[in-house]
Amino acid sequence: MKPKIYIKFLLSYVFFGIAAILVLCTFTQRSITNYLEKHEAQNLYREATQIASKYAANFTNTTLSLEDFQVRMESLSSYLSAEIWVVDSQGNVLFNSSDSSIGQRAANAHYTTLPDFDPTSFGNTYYTVGNFYDSFSENTITVFSPVTANYRVRSYVLIHKPVATVTEVTNHFMNITFFTVGIIYICAFLILLFFTICFYRPMLKMNSVAKSYAKGNFEPRISLHSNDEIGFLANTMNYMANELNTLEEDQRKFISNVSHDFRSPLTSIKGYVEAMLDGTIPPELQDKYLNIILFETERLAKLTQSILDLNQFGRHGIMLDVADFDINRMIKTTILTFEGTCNKKGLSFDLVLTGQELFVTGDMTKIQQVLYNLIDNATKFSHNNSAIKIETSIKNEKVLISVKDSGIGIPADSIKKIWDRFYKTDLSRGKDKKGTGLGLAIVKEIIQAHNEHINVISTEGVGTEFIFTLPLSKKEVQ
Ligand code: ATP
Ligand code: MG
Repeated sequence: MKPKIYIKFLLSYVFFGIAAILVLCTFTQRSITNYLEKHEAQNLYREATQIASKYAANFTNTTLSLEDFQVRMESLSSYLSAEIWVVDSQGNVLFNSSDSSIGQRAANAHYTTLPDFDPTSFGNTYYTVGNFYDSFSENTITVFSPVTANYRVRSYVLIHKPVATVTEVTNHFMNITFFTVGIIYICAFLILLFFTICFYRPMLKMNSVAKSYAKGNFEPRISLHSNDEIGFLANTMNYMANELNTLEEDQRKFISNVSHDFRSPLTSIKGYVEAMLDGTIPPELQDKYLNIILFETERLAKLTQSILDLNQFGRHGIMLDVADFDINRMIKTTILTFEGTCNKKGLSFDLVLTGQELFVTGDMTKIQQVLYNLIDNATKFSHNNSAIKIETSIKNEKVLISVKDSGIGIPADSIKKIWDRFYKTDLSRGKDKKGTGLGLAIVKEIIQAHNEHINVISTEGVGTEFIFTLPLSKKEVQ
């Protein structure tokens, strides 16, 4: 797998860095500069209007001595780090805070003149940025306030301050901003690193392991020991691999069992048929061997039916056709099927049924199959001339059905295995050659599909009892 997501993250990270630098160098810097210029201009304008109202009027009217005015303006200009000018309407610079020869000029009435000075050029704004009629070699903020006396504009107070002072502050702000963004960028890198270690690497690991599973190799396991969702997912995948492994083993076992169970009857059928055809078995003995062939064929048919049943249960679950029926009646009709076997072995049925009728809810055909399999086992593994007890009872709105024989019993170490497909105890092998070992597996599937339970109590050499439950019909409850 190409690490697409990871590359996307990395590219986004680099793009984020470049975009942040570009935005900082253009938009942010421009915005800060504009804001500071405007802010500075506002401050200067406030000063200019104050000078215009307090001092410049006096200056025009000569009530304040020029020297006094100069001293005050010089201290103010050094405080503001700016130049203060007073200019008349013709562009004559009447006062310049940076020019100490102002006193003489006033006396001689000889001023520096701004040739193209046009007070209307400011328009509606109160400040400009530039070199102010080539008066400065560097970019300068100039604010402008008219001096009025007797309702006439006498002159203008101008304050000039180099933009460089604002740029210095801008640079200071930019340094802080760059530093902050730098820290955010490093934090983003740490998050990326965290993501790589905690999510991306485990995901890669899980992906490669999942690929192995897809190829049928369920051996690899994911070793992650985190307590979060990723760790949980890894555990789930390990669990899944275990299950698939077991399933595969079960399937192999199932196929080898099926093949074995099919092969032995087929081999004997083939052997007897060949022997009959080539005359090894004389015609007068053929009946005996044809009966064996019939027995083996029946066994094969039964085996095929059982496998089909189990396969159907496994794939779609069991579709139940649920209805109310009389379980007592079903027991009575089912035992009739075993009349022949019972007569042969001298077996008898001892029925202990609750009530005349006992209605339960379930799938009639499937429950009949359960009863048939349990009674079939009881008759197969009972000793001759013994009794099989079938009992029904009611407990907590459940009907308990018990099939009890006093036969060979099941060894304790086999009890758990009898529900497995194809399992037969060593005790039973000699007694029942026809058995496939699938009967109880089918019984269990059917009972589980009804959400009910089945239990077995057995003692080797004493007997076996199977008890299963079914819901009592609503009819019976009322
Ligand atoms: P099939 O039911 O396909 O004819 P089976 O009877 O051998 O074959 P199961 O009904 O699944 O298969 O039973 C599995 C095994 O459990 C039997 O082979 C037998 O060893 C043991 N078993 C089942 N019921 C009894 C019983 N009542 N008494 C003693 N052993 C039993
Ligand atoms: Mg059976």
